[in-house]
Amino acid sequence: MLKEKLIRRYEAELSDKEIEKAKRNDHARRKPRPCGFTVHIAKGCGGGCLYCYVDSPPRLIDISPKALVYSLLLNPLFEPGKSFVAVGAICEPLDYPEYTKEFLKELLKLRNPIQISTKEVNYDLAKILSDVDALISMCNPFDEICKKFEPKRPSPSERLEFCREIGGGVFLRPILPMIDLKTYKKGVERIAEFTDRIILGNLRLTKEVKRKLGISSLPKKYYERKKMLEDYAKNELGLIVFRSACCSNAYKHNVVCWNRCWEKGFCARCPNKCWLKTSSSF
Ligand code: SF4
Ligand code: SF4
Repeated sequence: MLKEKLIRRYEAELSDKEIEKAKRNDHARRKPRPCGFTVHIAKGCGGGCLYCYVDSPPRLIDISPKALVYSLLLNPLFEPGKSFVAVGAICEPLDYPEYTKEFLKELLKLRNPIQISTKEVNYDLAKILSDVDALISMCNPFDEICKKFEPKRPSPSERLEFCREIGGGVFLRPILPMIDLKTYKKGVERIAEFTDRIILGNLRLTKEVKRKLGISSLPKKYYERKKMLEDYAKNELGLIVFRSACCSNAYKHNVVCWNRCWEKGFCARCPNKCWLKTSSSF
């Protein structure tokens, strides 16, 4: 359906007040990132993960799920059915299960490739999460290690079971410099029992994160070590190791990568084979 037609349909369903609020919301103007249009269901989080740069209290967005989709449609750069959408930055979307469920239900009608990243487990959402590219995030898959860094979230064991249930991938992030390579290798072996795909994420050091983790910089061999882990996961364990989140979304939805990673040196040569897909698929 044409974008204008969709906008008119939403305007017929929403109240004038909701329409005005949605027009003012920044999703109607925000520029997409390489992974697609980032959707912030909330801002802030009370999770208290030690490596996290999000430090404001959680606050749910003040428009309804339907108005949020309308707001996205108002964005001149957003293309229904095509633009990649990424949910889960700067908050934990499953802290708001009803909102997230309604939003995904509404957005799925537009048929855009949707990705969501979560550390939570909620079997009530299993069906809808299996329809999108669900990334189950954790800094380490071993319960005792993870608990030190992510004290308020479900154990990785629970998350991995949930990941298997919904056919998700694992976002192993951030790779922490204080955990040795041997432990991480064992970690990806464990992850390989639950999924066929993984993304390894970097640690982002802000002043506050440095203080919380008690480090001043990343070790010299941080990226080298991460590359070794990536090679191990791919070559020894046969996992698909995406180098960027957009590739995971592209693979899940069988469409060409939004960021055209295969032209930029970020391609993991995954079975999606973007370079073989015709322009008509995107
Ligand atoms: S759950 Fe996510 S957003 Fe919340 S503190 Fe942990 S890493 Fe940060
Ligand atoms: S083929 Fe390459 S660019 Fe395309 S989704 Fe896979 S890893 Fe990404």
